[in-house]
Amino acid sequence: FALMFAEAMLLHYNGSQRHDSMYVFLLPCMYFLFNAVLHFRGKRIAGLRTASLLIYIIHPMMIVVVRAAAKLFHLQSLLIENSLVQYFAVCLLSAAFGFIGAAVRERIGNKPKHRAETERAYIEIDLNNLSRNAEVLREAMPQKCELMAVVKTEAYGHGAYEIATHLEKTGVRSFAVATVDEGIKLRKYGIRGEILILGYTDVHRAKELKKFDLTQTLIDFDHARRLNMQKVTVKTHIAVDSGMHRLGFAYSDPESVKEVFGMKYLKTNGIFTHLCCCESLRREDVAFTKEQIQRFYNLIGELKSNGVPLPKIHIQSSYGLLNYPDLECDYVRVGIALYGIPCSPKDRTVLNLDLHPVLSLKAKIALVRNVPKGEYVGYDRAFRTERDSRIAILPIGYGDGFPRDLSCGNAY
Ligand SMILES: *Cc1c(COP(=O)(O)O)cnc(C)c1O
Repeated sequence: FALMFAEAMLLHYNGSQRHDSMYVFLLPCMYFLFNAVLHFRGKRIAGLRTASLLIYIIHPMMIVVVRAAAKLFHLQSLLIENSLVQYFAVCLLSAAFGFIGAAVRERIGNKPKHRAETERAYIEIDLNNLSRNAEVLREAMPQKCELMAVVKTEAYGHGAYEIATHLEKTGVRSFAVATVDEGIKLRKYGIRGEILILGYTDVHRAKELKKFDLTQTLIDFDHARRLNMQKVTVKTHIAVDSGMHRLGFAYSDPESVKEVFGMKYLKTNGIFTHLCCCESLRREDVAFTKEQIQRFYNLIGELKSNGVPLPKIHIQSSYGLLNYPDLECDYVRVGIALYGIPCSPKDRTVLNLDLHPVLSLKAKIALVRNVPKGEYVGYDRAFRTERDSRIAILPIGYGDGFPRDLSCGNAY
């Protein structure tokens, strides 16, 4: 805008312009405006698209209308000779018509009567259940602990855009994803909270980490060292391997962890570990989990006594919270529990929270047919009618990813 203004002033004072509505800097200006509109606070406001198109088309007519009105009401001196008033009158009228047009179109527009995606089989996402689950989980956490919503892999299939934007509206400020590309996508959707990448990111992408203000997990010392060598300041959390042997610095190696805090280009403001059998309440598993927790706290203690300024710490995922609710930490990384489902229906937990599934899978009945007693239904003749039956056929199958094991009312 500043450059366009400067350009206009320059042309004006040079007297060199033939026409006063064409500027070179109009193009980047419009590009910026369109992008701002398309992703305003993470929402795509379709109505603004229509309105801006209408304003573009309508505004020359509005110039004519304003001039005609001026003549009609003898207001030439105000509406024509005062170019600023004329300008605002045209703007106002164009915007009014644009927005009214967009609203009308939204009302009566060409909305399909049957949405194609609900014709056959579809997923329904209950955002009310999502906010309720988030609320229930927050209440179960210790006071100063914050919920970090795990929205990796398209929010476990629920749709990262819908889930993350809704959670951010309800006050969630931290998110976790699996990859740098998922993180970038969330930023482009307009998510402004903290975004932690849980998985490995190639160090050559350091610039993107910085540009999109993403927090990278350091998966081991070598990763940290190589990321630091990129000479790009990046926010990081340290993963500690306390016994799962997936990602992380060895819990028994506080020296390496300490060294990371001295690395110039890494802004390490978090350290965490992951519990690998916290869903189980079997005695050996509980003992192992407690051992993992102890190892992690020991490492933290070691850092503290070495004078390292302690970053935020986090340990639990969903089941970590449900089975070990009192751990002292700054975040809980909750995935599956946010979506209101257990990892396995048999799971019992220490906390019994009132969580509700966010996702439902639905299908419209395609056919209802009568099948006499003693006939078979489906693959493998899996079902045999015990009486004359009415069978409903749903147009969804294993091609859609629906497991065949679930046939005949079987549950996992
Ligand atoms: C996936 C993941 C989580 C979330 O786990 P849930 O069991 O779904 O809550 C937390 N932390 C890490 C490191 C993960 O990879």
